[in-house]
Amino acid sequence: MSGEPTPITIARGDGIGPEIMDATLEVLQASGANLAFEEIQIGESVYKRGILNGMEPSAWDSLRRTKVFLKAPITTPQGGGYKSLNVTIRGALGLFANIRPCVSYHPFVNTKHPQMDVVIVRENEEDLYAGIEYRQTQDVTQAVKLISRPGSEKIIRYAFEYARANHRHKVTAFVKDNIMKISDGLFHRVFDEIAAEYPEIEHETMIVDIGAARLADTPEQFDVIVTLNLYGDIISDIAAQITGSVGLAGSSNIGDQCAMFEAIHGSAPTIAGKGIANPSGLILASVMMLVHIGQAEAAERIHNAWLKMIEDGIHTVDIFKRGVSKARVGTRDFAQNLIDRLGDRPTTLTPASYEVGAKASFAGIELKSRKDTTKRLVGCDIFVDHTGGDGDAMAQRVLPLVKDGLKLMVISNRGQKVWPEGAPETFCTDHWRLRVMGEADATVTQNAIAELIVRMADAGFDIVQTARLYTFDGVPGFSLSQGQ
Ligand code: NAD
Repeated sequence: MSGEPTPITIARGDGIGPEIMDATLEVLQASGANLAFEEIQIGESVYKRGILNGMEPSAWDSLRRTKVFLKAPITTPQGGGYKSLNVTIRGALGLFANIRPCVSYHPFVNTKHPQMDVVIVRENEEDLYAGIEYRQTQDVTQAVKLISRPGSEKIIRYAFEYARANHRHKVTAFVKDNIMKISDGLFHRVFDEIAAEYPEIEHETMIVDIGAARLADTPEQFDVIVTLNLYGDIISDIAAQITGSVGLAGSSNIGDQCAMFEAIHGSAPTIAGKGIANPSGLILASVMMLVHIGQAEAAERIHNAWLKMIEDGIHTVDIFKRGVSKARVGTRDFAQNLIDRLGDRPTTLTPASYEVGAKASFAGIELKSRKDTTKRLVGCDIFVDHTGGDGDAMAQRVLPLVKDGLKLMVISNRGQKVWPEGAPETFCTDHWRLRVMGEADATVTQNAIAELIVRMADAGFDIVQTARLYTFDGVPGFSLSQGQ
């Protein structure tokens, strides 16, 4: 290939990492890909030098320069305040999308789902992974689930652009907006808005529980799935597992400026150094990398040679099956067999096809869907720590303090209404929510709320949290209590 080589940062990692990285680099070099590698140190040895996130500070310079990272798995030491290298890299480099193709290679690799070919597109930065958690009382802890319009729009646009670039026909969103009407509801709404811009791609939304059940049972009904961080974390492991071949899958983490590519498996320390590890996960991750940097021709050559090899029954020990496999090879021989097949195409499995010149990174996705609305302050939820009593007793204490056009609307405990007219059976913890709003739906002032909080503090209430209630173009931006 002519022109300047594309600089790529690589890390050999731990355990089987160096073996599978060597095999992958040999394949890349033989494929005609035009790449220049810069190596950085990550993983166990770096952790053991006391660097808690497992990466030398100087390694960031290489990543910021090349913006493309091909990473072998690492061993994460247990305990000792060590931080996950992946979480650190994702956060620092803004890698908002995690892409995991989960494909069955029937009849060459054992699986209960021979027709499976699903790509999971997982939001990578928000949701419960924002890491905002509190313990507020003796009994009650809280994790904040953050879902933003830009975060949702970015990942959903990415999923549709990915579907378009990869000739996929359907995108399914997994949400739980029957329960989380505001946060998951936003994701669902943005999904519907953006789907309308891609009329050639079918779209559907499923509640995540039934969606996950169907994914495990009939994965062939799915094509691309886009979902929030936590659901994506769970279903992408289910999806990879049921292809029957976790060791074969690669994944990418994509940001506006940088991207990271890796196998989905770990460092497999028990087989490290034996030369038997399957390098397929990292090789297929490197195929995703080549597509990302616009070297689709080399990506296609490697991927098709790899499919041919799976068909030819040249298998590593983890997928070797008597009667199906023809030869059991080690890591190096696997790479050499693959190199020998560069230029070949599979005859039974569907050949890979990447548009030459097409860039599938979609870097700098333009956000278009934000609409300004009129925001009005209409009330406040005040959370207090209090042990014992019931909703009526709590109301009697707080009612005399609520004035200046404010009205106590409802008291709830763990989201369940306990005043007015609470059910006597409701179990109450020490975490109470008092909802105050303007009389007759009037606009409320910050000062009126602040003064109420001061009066409550003076009266001895232990206020652990407050949350203002707004409407947006008249639509409440807050949920009602169960039973309200
Ligand atoms: P693992 O994926 O390393 O191993 C699970 C099983 O699969 C083992 O039996 C292993 O021998 C086998 N296996 C994995 N990859 C294989 C391959 N390429 N060829 C053949 N067999 C393979 O998971 P684990 O044992 O839970 O974790 C081991 C270490 O890897 C831990 O320190 C963990 O923190 C780390 N890890 C790192 C990453 C990463 O760097 N992205 C991801 C997952 C786990």
